[in-house]
Amino acid sequence: MSDLPSIRIGLGHDTHRLGEGGPMKLGGITIDCGFHLIGHSDADVLLHAITDAILGAACLGDIGTLFPNTADDNKNRCSQEMLRLAHAKILESGWKIINLDCVIFATQPKISPYRDTMIQCIQQTLGLKEGQVFVKGKTGEKVGPVGRCEAIVAECVALLHKVPISN
Ligand SMILES: [Zn+2]
Repeated sequence: MSDLPSIRIGLGHDTHRLGEGGPMKLGGITIDCGFHLIGHSDADVLLHAITDAILGAACLGDIGTLFPNTADDNKNRCSQEMLRLAHAKILESGWKIINLDCVIFATQPKISPYRDTMIQCIQQTLGLKEGQVFVKGKTGEKVGPVGRCEAIVAECVALLHKVPISN
């Protein structure tokens, strides 16, 4: 491993079904759009994708093994807290985030009015600075589960670098 540069890329992908009635947790913020996401935790599909991307880049498992959806502890669990715990795990192993780039595939809600607040929330959760996180929204073009407003999908790529351990 020592002959490889100390940077790693990770990919996170997640899907949650939409249910009628708000509010929705998405990107760490609460949105009252008349729909919510269905899941064992608070179902924040974007934070789940980010969690998987950083864990995957560091080869430290995935959200399913860290927070099994069979565990009562994880019922209605705050995804922001899960992301914080996953982040602490990568930091412990010497990894730091360079940047995150995220895509949300959703018909409802429209992402652009909430984008800046989501970015700020993710930056704060992970102690990152402006310019390290980006979020964009794509509609489902009226086809497939996203286009029919049955689900929201989120993806994230994360770039990490290993901080040299000083003696
Ligand atoms: Zn999820």
